[in-house]
Amino acid sequence: RRGWIEVVCGSMFSGKTEELIRRLKRAKIARQRVEIFKPALDTRYHVQDVVSHNANSIRSTPVPLAQEMLLLAGGSDVVGIDEAQFFDETLVEVCVQLANRGTRVIVAGLDMDFQGRPFGPMPALMAVAEFVTKVHAVCVCCGEIASYSFRVAASEDKILLGETDAYEARCRPCFLSGMQEK
Ligand code: ADP
Ligand code: MG
Repeated sequence: RRGWIEVVCGSMFSGKTEELIRRLKRAKIARQRVEIFKPALDTRYHVQDVVSHNANSIRSTPVPLAQEMLLLAGGSDVVGIDEAQFFDETLVEVCVQLANRGTRVIVAGLDMDFQGRPFGPMPALMAVAEFVTKVHAVCVCCGEIASYSFRVAASEDKILLGETDAYEARCRPCFLSGMQEK
């Protein structure tokens, strides 16, 4: 069996989870054994489900540490991972090991944090992946293509869960002017 890594990245509201769910549902239609994981700290909507902003969802297993996926994904043909930016760097080695042993790994996550900096293990994952897809949201200020997640709330914590009101999808100019106003 041939394994590989696919990364789906972009800002908040860009459709990463939607795209992940679409790929995983197709794998299930092809009768492949599919397992979906997410970091245990992401409990926004539902403890067990991976849920997109348009309320699409798929059953998942929350894991506190990336390594746990190596055991839990033992019999899987396809492994999906959502909110991958919240795992630490060991996620990269875990994905490589899964792919090396023949698993198709599909990883979705934020490529940048709210300050426009590369987020956690995502840049390294994009480097080792066979396929990288960058999806885009719509800028809420001007309607152009958005690549940035602008934090409306004042907190400086890197991780601030809970969505719609705390962040806005913005294009580069609207993100920059928002940051300058802060
Ligand atoms: P992500 O996982 O990247 O945060 P989701 O897959 O959960 O994104 O949600 C994508 C959906 O979010 C879109 O199909 C759309 O219905 C909705 N949405 C809300 N705000 C926006 C926006 N500014 N740009 C694009 N889609 C948006
Ligand atoms: Mg998502």
